[in-house]
Amino acid sequence: MTQYKMVKTLLTLSMGAMLSISALAKPTVMVVATGGTIAGAGASATNSATYTAAKVPVDTLINAVPQIKDLADVKGVQALQIASESITDKELLSIARQVNDLVKKPEVNGVVITHGTDTLEETAFFLNLVVHTDKPIVVVGSMRPPSALSADGPLNLYGAVALAASPESKGKGVMMFMNDTILAARDSSKRINIHTNAFDSQWGALGMVVEGKPYWFRQGVKRQTNNSEFNIEDIKGDSLPLVQITYGSDSMTPVAYEAYAKAGVKAIINAGTGNGSVPNYLVDTLRNLRQQGMIIVRASRVQDGFVLRNAEKPDDEYDWVVAHDLNPQKARLLTALALTKTNSTKELQRMFWQY
Ligand code: GLU
Repeated sequence: MTQYKMVKTLLTLSMGAMLSISALAKPTVMVVATGGTIAGAGASATNSATYTAAKVPVDTLINAVPQIKDLADVKGVQALQIASESITDKELLSIARQVNDLVKKPEVNGVVITHGTDTLEETAFFLNLVVHTDKPIVVVGSMRPPSALSADGPLNLYGAVALAASPESKGKGVMMFMNDTILAARDSSKRINIHTNAFDSQWGALGMVVEGKPYWFRQGVKRQTNNSEFNIEDIKGDSLPLVQITYGSDSMTPVAYEAYAKAGVKAIINAGTGNGSVPNYLVDTLRNLRQQGMIIVRASRVQDGFVLRNAEKPDDEYDWVVAHDLNPQKARLLTALALTKTNSTKELQRMFWQY
Protein backbone atom coordinates (compact mmCIF):
# COMPACT_ATOMS: atom_id res chain seq x y z
CA MET A 1 0.00 0.00 0.00
CA THR A 2 1.38 3.42 -0.89
CA GLN A 3 1.79 6.00 1.85
CA TYR A 4 -0.99 8.07 0.26
CA LYS A 5 -3.39 5.10 0.29
CA MET A 6 -2.59 4.31 3.95
CA VAL A 7 -3.27 7.90 5.04
CA LYS A 8 -6.51 7.90 3.03
CA THR A 9 -7.66 4.61 4.61
CA LEU A 10 -6.84 5.86 8.12
CA LEU A 11 -8.69 9.12 7.50
CA THR A 12 -11.75 7.27 6.17
CA LEU A 13 -11.75 4.94 9.18
CA SER A 14 -11.45 7.76 11.74
CA MET A 15 -14.13 9.83 10.00
CA GLY A 16 -16.43 6.81 10.11
CA ALA A 17 -15.71 6.37 13.82
CA MET A 18 -16.42 10.08 14.45
CA LEU A 19 -19.68 9.84 12.56
CA SER A 20 -20.84 6.81 14.49
CA ILE A 21 -19.84 8.49 17.79
CA SER A 22 -21.88 11.57 16.85
CA ALA A 23 -24.81 9.31 15.84
CA LEU A 24 -24.60 7.74 19.31
CA ALA A 25 -24.22 11.07 21.16
CA LYS A 26 -27.27 11.93 23.18
CA PRO A 27 -28.97 15.29 22.66
CA THR A 28 -28.37 17.91 25.33
CA VAL A 29 -31.47 19.15 27.13
CA MET A 30 -31.33 21.98 29.65
CA VAL A 31 -33.85 21.91 32.49
CA VAL A 32 -34.59 25.47 33.63
CA ALA A 33 -36.35 25.32 37.00
CA THR A 34 -38.60 28.15 38.15
CA GLY A 35 -40.55 26.62 41.06
CA GLY A 36 -44.22 25.63 41.26
CA THR A 37 -45.85 22.46 42.53
CA ILE A 38 -43.49 20.29 40.52
CA ALA A 39 -40.87 21.55 42.99
CA GLY A 40 -43.27 21.64 45.96
CA ALA A 41 -43.21 19.86 49.33
CA GLY A 42 -46.12 18.74 51.50
CA ALA A 43 -46.16 17.62 55.13
CA SER A 44 -47.34 14.11 54.26
CA ALA A 45 -47.90 11.83 51.27
CA THR A 46 -51.66 12.42 51.42
CA ASN A 47 -51.22 16.20 51.06
CA SER A 48 -51.92 16.47 47.34
CA ALA A 49 -53.41 19.97 47.55
CA THR A 50 -52.01 21.40 50.82
CA TYR A 51 -48.29 22.00 50.44
CA THR A 52 -45.72 24.71 49.77
CA ALA A 53 -44.78 25.31 46.14
CA ALA A 54 -41.21 26.03 44.98
CA LYS A 55 -39.07 24.19 47.55
CA VAL A 56 -37.12 21.43 45.76
CA PRO A 57 -33.94 22.43 43.85
CA VAL A 58 -33.43 21.54 40.19
CA ASP A 59 -30.77 18.85 40.73
CA THR A 60 -33.10 16.96 43.10
CA LEU A 61 -35.87 17.15 40.48
CA ILE A 62 -33.55 15.73 37.81
CA ASN A 63 -32.06 13.04 40.05
CA ALA A 64 -35.54 11.87 41.04
CA VAL A 65 -36.04 10.69 37.44
CA PRO A 66 -32.81 8.81 36.59
CA GLN A 67 -34.49 7.42 33.43
CA ILE A 68 -34.22 10.84 31.73
CA LYS A 69 -30.46 10.27 31.43
CA ASP A 70 -31.28 7.55 28.85
CA LEU A 71 -33.08 10.15 26.73
CA ALA A 72 -30.63 13.03 26.86
CA ASP A 73 -27.66 14.63 28.52
CA VAL A 74 -29.58 16.66 31.06
CA LYS A 75 -28.25 19.70 32.89
CA GLY A 76 -30.15 21.88 35.35
CA VAL A 77 -30.33 25.64 35.82
CA GLN A 78 -32.12 27.15 38.81
CA ALA A 79 -33.59 30.27 37.19
CA LEU A 80 -36.06 31.09 39.98
CA GLN A 81 -37.73 29.37 42.93
CA ILE A 82 -41.21 30.88 42.98
CA ALA A 83 -44.91 30.05 43.01
CA SER A 84 -46.02 31.12 39.55
CA GLU A 85 -48.90 33.39 40.65
CA SER A 86 -46.16 35.71 41.98
CA ILE A 87 -44.41 36.03 38.62
CA THR A 88 -44.28 39.61 37.32
CA ASP A 89 -42.86 41.08 34.11
CA LYS A 90 -39.46 41.12 35.81
CA GLU A 91 -39.38 37.33 36.28
CA LEU A 92 -41.02 36.70 32.91
CA LEU A 93 -38.36 38.73 31.10
CA SER A 94 -35.62 37.06 33.12
CA ILE A 95 -36.90 33.56 32.16
CA ALA A 96 -37.13 34.60 28.49
CA ARG A 97 -33.57 36.00 28.50
CA GLN A 98 -32.16 32.87 30.15
CA VAL A 99 -33.97 30.56 27.71
CA ASN A 100 -32.87 32.73 24.78
CA ASP A 101 -29.22 32.47 25.92
CA LEU A 102 -29.53 28.68 26.18
CA VAL A 103 -31.10 28.04 22.76
CA LYS A 104 -28.33 30.11 21.17
CA LYS A 105 -25.69 27.63 22.40
CA PRO A 106 -24.87 25.20 19.57
CA GLU A 107 -24.47 22.29 22.01
CA VAL A 108 -28.04 22.70 23.40
CA ASN A 109 -30.72 20.73 21.53
CA GLY A 110 -33.76 21.63 23.61
CA VAL A 111 -34.97 23.37 26.76
CA VAL A 112 -37.46 22.22 29.40
CA ILE A 113 -38.83 24.78 31.85
CA THR A 114 -40.34 23.49 35.07
CA HIS A 115 -43.02 25.93 36.19
CA GLY A 116 -45.99 26.41 38.48
CA THR A 117 -49.23 25.65 36.70
CA ASP A 118 -51.05 28.88 37.68
CA THR A 119 -49.34 31.06 35.09
CA LEU A 120 -47.60 28.37 33.05
CA GLU A 121 -49.72 29.33 30.04
CA GLU A 122 -48.56 32.97 30.26
CA THR A 123 -44.84 32.11 30.35
CA ALA A 124 -45.23 29.59 27.53
CA PHE A 125 -47.09 32.10 25.32
CA PHE A 126 -44.60 34.86 26.09
CA LEU A 127 -41.65 32.63 25.12
CA ASN A 128 -43.54 31.61 21.98
CA LEU A 129 -43.68 35.30 21.02
CA VAL A 130 -40.17 36.48 21.90
CA VAL A 131 -37.63 33.63 21.57
CA HIS A 132 -36.37 33.13 18.03
CA THR A 133 -35.42 29.49 17.60
CA ASP A 134 -36.60 26.27 16.05
CA LYS A 135 -35.20 24.25 18.95
CA PRO A 136 -37.89 22.67 21.12
CA ILE A 137 -38.92 24.64 24.21
CA VAL A 138 -41.23 22.71 26.55
CA VAL A 139 -42.90 24.17 29.65
CA VAL A 140 -43.91 21.51 32.17
CA GLY A 141 -45.61 21.50 35.57
CA SER A 142 -47.41 19.13 37.88
CA MET A 143 -50.54 19.19 39.96
CA ARG A 144 -49.22 17.13 42.87
CA PRO A 145 -45.98 17.88 44.72
CA PRO A 146 -43.15 15.31 44.66
CA SER A 147 -44.01 14.38 48.26
CA ALA A 148 -47.57 13.26 47.38
CA LEU A 149 -48.91 9.78 46.58
CA SER A 150 -49.00 9.31 42.79
CA ALA A 151 -47.03 12.51 42.19
CA ASP A 152 -47.38 13.43 38.51
CA GLY A 153 -44.20 15.55 38.27
CA PRO A 154 -41.65 12.76 37.58
CA LEU A 155 -43.52 11.30 34.59
CA ASN A 156 -44.32 14.80 33.31
CA LEU A 157 -40.62 15.70 33.49
CA TYR A 158 -39.67 12.44 31.74
CA GLY A 159 -42.11 13.17 28.91
CA ALA A 160 -41.00 16.82 28.66
CA VAL A 161 -37.34 15.82 28.29
CA ALA A 162 -38.31 13.21 25.68
CA LEU A 163 -40.17 15.93 23.79
CA ALA A 164 -37.32 18.45 24.02
CA ALA A 165 -34.80 15.79 22.94
CA SER A 166 -36.75 14.68 19.88
CA PRO A 167 -35.64 16.09 16.48
CA GLU A 168 -39.30 15.92 15.39
CA SER A 169 -40.16 18.60 17.98
CA LYS A 170 -38.12 21.21 16.10
CA GLY A 171 -40.09 24.15 14.70
CA LYS A 172 -43.29 23.29 16.55
CA GLY A 173 -43.28 26.48 18.67
CA VAL A 174 -43.26 26.57 22.45
CA MET A 175 -45.11 23.57 23.86
CA MET A 176 -46.86 22.94 27.15
CA PHE A 177 -46.63 19.39 28.41
CA MET A 178 -48.50 17.59 31.20
CA ASN A 179 -50.54 14.41 31.55
CA ASP A 180 -48.96 12.84 28.41
CA THR A 181 -50.41 15.67 26.29
CA ILE A 182 -48.50 18.09 24.02
CA LEU A 183 -50.30 21.43 23.83
CA ALA A 184 -49.60 24.64 21.89
CA ALA A 185 -48.60 27.63 24.04
CA ARG A 186 -50.89 30.12 22.27
CA ASP A 187 -54.25 28.47 22.84
CA SER A 188 -53.89 26.19 25.86
CA SER A 189 -54.85 27.12 29.38
CA LYS A 190 -55.42 25.79 32.88
CA ARG A 191 -59.01 24.60 33.07
CA ILE A 192 -59.14 22.41 36.19
CA ASN A 193 -57.34 23.34 39.39
CA ILE A 194 -57.47 19.89 41.04
CA HIS A 195 -56.94 17.09 38.51
CA THR A 196 -53.71 16.12 36.77
CA ASN A 197 -55.24 16.86 33.33
CA ALA A 198 -55.21 20.54 34.26
CA PHE A 199 -54.55 21.95 30.76
CA ASP A 200 -56.41 21.81 27.50
CA SER A 201 -57.02 23.73 24.27
CA GLN A 202 -60.28 24.21 22.45
CA TRP A 203 -58.40 23.44 19.22
CA GLY A 204 -57.07 20.11 20.49
CA ALA A 205 -53.69 18.71 21.45
CA LEU A 206 -50.68 18.75 19.10
CA GLY A 207 -49.85 15.21 20.11
CA MET A 208 -48.96 12.89 22.97
CA VAL A 209 -45.85 11.40 24.54
CA VAL A 210 -46.18 7.74 25.44
CA GLU A 211 -43.32 5.79 27.04
CA GLY A 212 -40.85 8.53 26.10
CA LYS A 213 -41.87 8.72 22.43
CA PRO A 214 -43.73 11.72 20.96
CA TYR A 215 -46.65 11.07 18.58
CA TRP A 216 -47.85 14.06 16.50
CA PHE A 217 -51.35 14.81 15.22
CA ARG A 218 -51.62 18.57 14.52
CA GLN A 219 -49.57 21.71 13.93
CA GLY A 220 -50.42 25.38 14.55
CA VAL A 221 -50.86 27.95 11.79
CA LYS A 222 -50.13 31.15 13.73
CA ARG A 223 -46.93 33.19 13.87
CA GLN A 224 -44.52 32.11 16.60
CA THR A 225 -40.83 31.85 17.66
CA ASN A 226 -38.68 32.25 14.49
CA ASN A 227 -41.60 33.78 12.64
CA SER A 228 -42.51 36.33 15.32
CA GLU A 229 -41.94 40.09 14.94
CA PHE A 230 -41.15 40.32 18.67
CA ASN A 231 -37.73 39.48 20.01
CA ILE A 232 -36.55 39.36 23.61
CA GLU A 233 -33.24 40.84 22.43
CA ASP A 234 -35.02 44.08 21.47
CA ILE A 235 -36.71 44.51 24.86
CA LYS A 236 -34.78 46.58 27.37
CA GLY A 237 -35.29 46.80 31.13
CA ASP A 238 -37.34 44.58 33.39
CA SER A 239 -40.90 45.74 32.81
CA LEU A 240 -43.41 45.86 29.97
CA PRO A 241 -46.01 48.55 29.17
CA LEU A 242 -48.71 48.35 31.83
CA VAL A 243 -51.77 46.38 30.66
CA GLN A 244 -54.51 45.20 33.03
CA ILE A 245 -57.68 43.09 32.82
CA THR A 246 -61.25 43.91 33.90
CA TYR A 247 -63.68 41.04 34.45
CA GLY A 248 -67.21 41.25 33.03
CA SER A 249 -70.43 40.35 34.85
CA ASP A 250 -73.87 41.78 35.38
CA SER A 251 -74.11 44.95 37.53
CA MET A 252 -70.70 46.42 36.76
CA THR A 253 -69.44 49.91 37.63
CA PRO A 254 -66.91 52.16 35.85
CA VAL A 255 -64.73 52.28 38.99
CA ALA A 256 -62.10 49.72 37.94
CA TYR A 257 -61.70 51.19 34.41
CA GLU A 258 -61.31 54.73 35.76
CA ALA A 259 -58.89 53.64 38.48
CA TYR A 260 -56.71 51.88 35.92
CA ALA A 261 -56.67 55.00 33.76
CA LYS A 262 -55.63 57.14 36.75
CA ALA A 263 -52.88 54.64 37.60
CA GLY A 264 -51.30 55.05 34.15
CA VAL A 265 -52.45 51.76 32.63
CA LYS A 266 -51.89 51.89 28.85
CA ALA A 267 -54.40 49.26 27.74
CA ILE A 268 -57.36 47.50 29.33
CA ILE A 269 -58.31 43.96 28.38
CA ASN A 270 -62.06 43.77 28.89
CA ALA A 271 -62.73 40.12 29.75
CA GLY A 272 -66.34 40.67 28.83
CA THR A 273 -69.35 38.39 29.03
CA GLY A 274 -70.19 36.30 25.93
CA ASN A 275 -68.71 37.90 22.82
CA GLY A 276 -66.46 40.17 24.90
CA SER A 277 -69.51 42.35 25.54
CA VAL A 278 -69.52 45.81 27.10
CA PRO A 279 -72.76 46.74 28.94
CA ASN A 280 -74.60 49.71 27.42
CA TYR A 281 -74.11 51.73 30.62
CA LEU A 282 -70.29 51.36 30.29
CA VAL A 283 -69.95 52.16 26.59
CA ASP A 284 -69.47 55.91 27.21
CA THR A 285 -66.81 55.24 29.86
CA LEU A 286 -64.81 53.02 27.51
CA ARG A 287 -65.26 55.39 24.55
CA ASN A 288 -64.05 58.31 26.64
CA LEU A 289 -61.03 56.35 27.82
CA ARG A 290 -60.21 55.44 24.22
CA GLN A 291 -60.44 59.13 23.24
CA GLN A 292 -57.93 59.88 25.99
CA GLY A 293 -55.51 57.33 24.48
CA MET A 294 -56.31 54.14 26.43
CA ILE A 295 -56.27 51.01 24.24
CA ILE A 296 -59.44 48.92 24.72
CA VAL A 297 -59.23 45.22 23.84
CA ARG A 298 -62.40 43.13 23.95
CA ALA A 299 -61.64 39.57 25.10
CA SER A 300 -64.13 37.15 26.64
CA ARG A 301 -64.61 35.53 30.03
CA VAL A 302 -65.90 32.48 28.08
CA GLN A 303 -62.96 30.15 27.59
CA ASP A 304 -63.91 28.73 24.18
CA GLY A 305 -64.95 30.30 20.89
CA PHE A 306 -63.59 33.67 19.76
CA VAL A 307 -64.61 37.32 19.91
CA LEU A 308 -66.15 38.58 16.68
CA ARG A 309 -65.24 42.09 15.56
CA ASN A 310 -68.10 44.57 14.89
CA ALA A 311 -70.73 41.99 15.88
CA GLU A 312 -72.53 43.29 18.96
CA LYS A 313 -70.47 46.46 19.22
CA PRO A 314 -69.18 48.68 16.36
CA ASP A 315 -65.45 48.25 17.02
CA ASP A 316 -64.49 50.17 13.87
CA GLU A 317 -66.48 53.20 15.01
CA TYR A 318 -65.28 53.04 18.64
CA ASP A 319 -61.67 52.19 17.65
CA TRP A 320 -61.63 49.14 19.92
CA VAL A 321 -59.62 45.95 19.28
CA VAL A 322 -60.81 42.34 19.61
CA ALA A 323 -58.64 39.59 21.10
CA HIS A 324 -59.86 36.94 18.63
CA ASP A 325 -59.45 33.55 20.38
CA LEU A 326 -56.73 34.63 22.83
CA ASN A 327 -57.90 34.47 26.44
CA PRO A 328 -57.62 37.66 28.52
CA GLN A 329 -54.32 36.73 30.16
CA LYS A 330 -52.69 35.97 26.79
CA ALA A 331 -54.28 39.08 25.26
CA ARG A 332 -52.62 41.07 28.06
CA LEU A 333 -49.17 39.80 27.05
CA LEU A 334 -49.64 40.31 23.31
CA THR A 335 -50.93 43.84 23.94
CA ALA A 336 -48.00 44.69 26.22
CA LEU A 337 -45.53 43.45 23.61
CA ALA A 338 -47.35 45.31 20.84
CA LEU A 339 -47.12 48.52 22.87
CA THR A 340 -43.32 48.21 22.91
CA LYS A 341 -43.53 48.86 19.15
CA THR A 342 -46.68 50.81 18.32
CA ASN A 343 -49.76 52.62 19.64
CA SER A 344 -51.76 51.92 16.49
CA THR A 345 -54.99 50.00 17.06
CA LYS A 346 -54.88 48.86 13.41
CA GLU A 347 -51.50 47.27 14.00
CA LEU A 348 -52.64 45.74 17.27
CA GLN A 349 -55.70 44.23 15.57
CA ARG A 350 -53.46 42.77 12.85
CA MET A 351 -51.34 41.15 15.56
CA PHE A 352 -54.40 39.60 17.16
CA TRP A 353 -55.33 38.02 13.81
CA GLN A 354 -51.79 36.73 13.24
CA TYR A 355 -50.54 35.39 16.61
N1 GLU B 1 -49.77 28.18 42.72
C1 GLU B 1 -48.54 27.47 42.58
C2 GLU B 1 -47.83 27.83 41.27
O1 GLU B 1 -48.45 28.13 40.29
C3 GLU B 1 -48.71 26.00 42.66
C4 GLU B 1 -49.65 25.46 41.61
C5 GLU B 1 -49.03 24.48 40.67
O2 GLU B 1 -47.86 24.58 40.30
O3 GLU B 1 -49.76 23.57 40.27
O4 GLU B 1 -46.63 27.80 41.27
